Amino acid sequence: MVQISEVKGNNRDNRTASHTHIKGLGLKADGTAEKQAGGFVGQQQAREVKQSDSREDAIVDLIRAHKMSGRGVLLAGGPGTGKTALALALSHELGTKIPFCPIVGSEIYSTEVKKTEMLMENFRRAIGLKVRETKEVYEGEVTELTPEEAENPLGGYGKTISTLLVGLKSAKGQKKLRLDPSIYEAIQKERVTVGDVVYIEANTGACKRVGRSDAYATEFDLEAEEYVPIPKGEVRKKKEIVQDVTLHDLDVANARPQGGQDIMSMMGQLMKPKMTEITDKLRGEINKVVSKYIDQGVAELVPGVLFIDEAHMLDIECFTYLNRALEMSISPIVVLASNRGMCTIRGTEGLVAAHGIPPDFLARLLIIPTTPYDADEIKRIVRIRSNTEGLQMTDAAIEKIAEHGVRISLRYCLQLLTPASILARVNGRNQIDIKDVAECEELFLDARRSADLLSGEAGRGFIS
Ligand code: ATP
Repeated sequence: MVQISEVKGNNRDNRTASHTHIKGLGLKADGTAEKQAGGFVGQQQAREVKQSDSREDAIVDLIRAHKMSGRGVLLAGGPGTGKTALALALSHELGTKIPFCPIVGSEIYSTEVKKTEMLMENFRRAIGLKVRETKEVYEGEVTELTPEEAENPLGGYGKTISTLLVGLKSAKGQKKLRLDPSIYEAIQKERVTVGDVVYIEANTGACKRVGRSDAYATEFDLEAEEYVPIPKGEVRKKKEIVQDVTLHDLDVANARPQGGQDIMSMMGQLMKPKMTEITDKLRGEINKVVSKYIDQGVAELVPGVLFIDEAHMLDIECFTYLNRALEMSISPIVVLASNRGMCTIRGTEGLVAAHGIPPDFLARLLIIPTTPYDADEIKRIVRIRSNTEGLQMTDAAIEKIAEHGVRISLRYCLQLLTPASILARVNGRNQIDIKDVAECEELFLDARRSADLLSGEAGRGFIS
């Protein structure tokens, strides 16, 4: 079995910590957005965005219907206008079965890995595969052995099931047999008793309790060594198991092949000799195998979403690569976000373009603008965020913090919440008060005050 868990574990959860209040786009059945729903406040136009007037043409539905692959979306708006929050809300709407891979533009620059390689890896993290696998299982009732069976454990069970009967011991004294330890353990874990009907996977020995047989009403205590059950009257059954993986999971699994007989492992063993790193050749081979499984109806492709925040950090080479990658037959939908207006396209000699994105690439994107919030919206967001963080605030403190949101930025005012709550606690209050907010404001500068300070006297102490 491929160890999917092995490929998880970068710090993306930390990155989304400030958006935990966002639960979805908060759309009504007709596709229009509530003023406040799903943890989202305002920004209705961006949340509702559709390709046409039909509800079925909302972005989220187009992605679900696999009609958006190979296309791009740009969320464009000033800092703190909810672009990242929108992308995460979209991912909540899509559910966990559709892959969502969030990265930040600057993340692709590394001294060890080529930037196009990083992009490709993340592209493949955003392309899912639903693999239907038919596993052979035994279905059988758990019974005691008859004395004859006890004497002849192989009798009547066929060759495969005899491996289950390597031995079995019953403290009732009459029978002396043992069971394969892994299967015994699995059966015990499931707490099966006499009369239970179980599935035992042919390959892994995993045991699942699926019901009871009326023929065996007696409950037995399986504690200690008193009684050990064995499956009897087994019927081989086919059971469909659906696994959701991404192409990147397959790349990783094949770069470090594992043993096993299931489709995923067999895919892992198809590439010889065993490879230890993900190469273009390996990816090509995997694509071929995947296409074969798709043709055979064993697997289904699930294009997901690649979200690239701070897209203006990508350079011309990356955009050229993305342009080409979007043309591929298997491509996720790419959602970009940028808070820049006209700026230089990285990697060019001063070529200025909207959002720092080359015009030919920009032309193939659906651009969704996000707009600044008004005072009421900021107040609502502050309330939601303080509830999420479990902070108590006086109404005056909310007003004061929201004022900073209007005057400075939403991000600055939300960042003041935690330090203000610490100050309140230090000052012996269990509610954030207006005084705590004022003290925080003095302690922590916002970006503009910091820049002003540097341009004045205080700037002298710094190295320029
Ligand atoms: P930047 O351009 O600086 O990356 P951004 O547009 O991506 O900013 P976010 O990071 O999404 O902004 O928003 C800043 C904070 O405000 C986050 O904690 C986010 O969850 C919250 N937020 C933004 N807009 C909304 C909204 N409409 N409703 C609720 N919370 C919001």
